[in-house]
Amino acid sequence: MSSLLVDNIGELVTNGAGEGPLGIRRDAAVLVEEGRVVWVGPPAYAPAADRRLDAGGAAVLPGFVDSHAHLVFAGDRAAEFAARMAGQPYTGGGIRTTVGATRAATDNELRATVRRLRGEALRQGTTTMEIKSGYGLTVADEARSLRIAAESSTETTFLGAHVVPAEYADRPDDYVSLVCGPMLAAATPYAKWVDVFCERGAFDVDHARAILACGQAAGLGVRIHANQLGPGAGVRLGVELDAASVDHCTHLSDADVDALAGTAHSDGSGTRTVATLLPGAEFSTRSPYPDARRLLDAGVTVALATDCNPGSSYTSSMPFCVALAVREMRMTPAEAVWAATAGGARALRRDDIGVLTPGARADLVVLDAPSYLHLAYRPGVPLIRQVMRNGVTP
Ligand SMILES: [Zn+2]
Repeated sequence: MSSLLVDNIGELVTNGAGEGPLGIRRDAAVLVEEGRVVWVGPPAYAPAADRRLDAGGAAVLPGFVDSHAHLVFAGDRAAEFAARMAGQPYTGGGIRTTVGATRAATDNELRATVRRLRGEALRQGTTTMEIKSGYGLTVADEARSLRIAAESSTETTFLGAHVVPAEYADRPDDYVSLVCGPMLAAATPYAKWVDVFCERGAFDVDHARAILACGQAAGLGVRIHANQLGPGAGVRLGVELDAASVDHCTHLSDADVDALAGTAHSDGSGTRTVATLLPGAEFSTRSPYPDARRLLDAGVTVALATDCNPGSSYTSSMPFCVALAVREMRMTPAEAVWAATAGGARALRRDDIGVLTPGARADLVVLDAPSYLHLAYRPGVPLIRQVMRNGVTP
């Protein structure tokens, strides 16, 4: 059994026991065996190890957990982005452009895109990345999207209810029946989660409830795109169905915030349903940001994710999202880093990632900086010096 000591860590973010909300330890070492953290403490007390990695006094964090990404697609919508920046509003309608390109692509073309984006994210410190389907929207294309996603992640999400495809435009009830019937059956072997884009122009709350309930009955966990473009009942539907996460949360009523706060664990460890904020989408659609402070002040557990997709948020960078959350959503750097690591893990109902405590997976990043603060303080700078996943450097 080979062991590795990550030594000479100037600032270790554990998200467990330690100083402040990030559980910080100064001058620390981490012992890794068989892909797991087995010991954390001062270097002087470190157990013997076969190998040593010198962090050089830099900061070490849990790898980022990106709990919301759409990587299985073909084509590019740079022209749509340029039109938006020239003043056209975002409506979500461009999703159908990507559906056409995705259906026309070969398996290998889709696979190459997933691997390229997954690799890009990994180099920016993302050690866990959820991947959704949702640009196939036929039984065969949704199944192959998830089969390809499952090659790169165990956190795969069936999003057959992304939009109603053009061929079903005048009969959405028939499309919902297809999603709940043969499409779900074909997707389930490759999916862990079910998701719906519950929004005006996509799926209303009754359709969303029907689809999520079918997915839940098939054994999938629930997540939902809700309250992005306007107010609605999506967040409350997520709470009603015990969703792991309600994503976007840009337009919330007091009742929505209360519903989320009402899912609080009795031990004070946050809420069972997480609010996942996706500031890359507001950045790329030039829209008002969600009110993170209102959620945090109500005791709601908040996660940050990229929403990486070719239309409304074509970034794979969690450090960029951390910087946006601090600058534009008034999260403290500590809140943003927690949300991008432990928060993402909560949004996936995982307790083995997003933390660096004994028993956790050895998924970590070494920064080219003395403190996690630099992720927001030095935006746009490649600060990820080294990434380790399952105790190995990919
Ligand atoms: Zn999304």
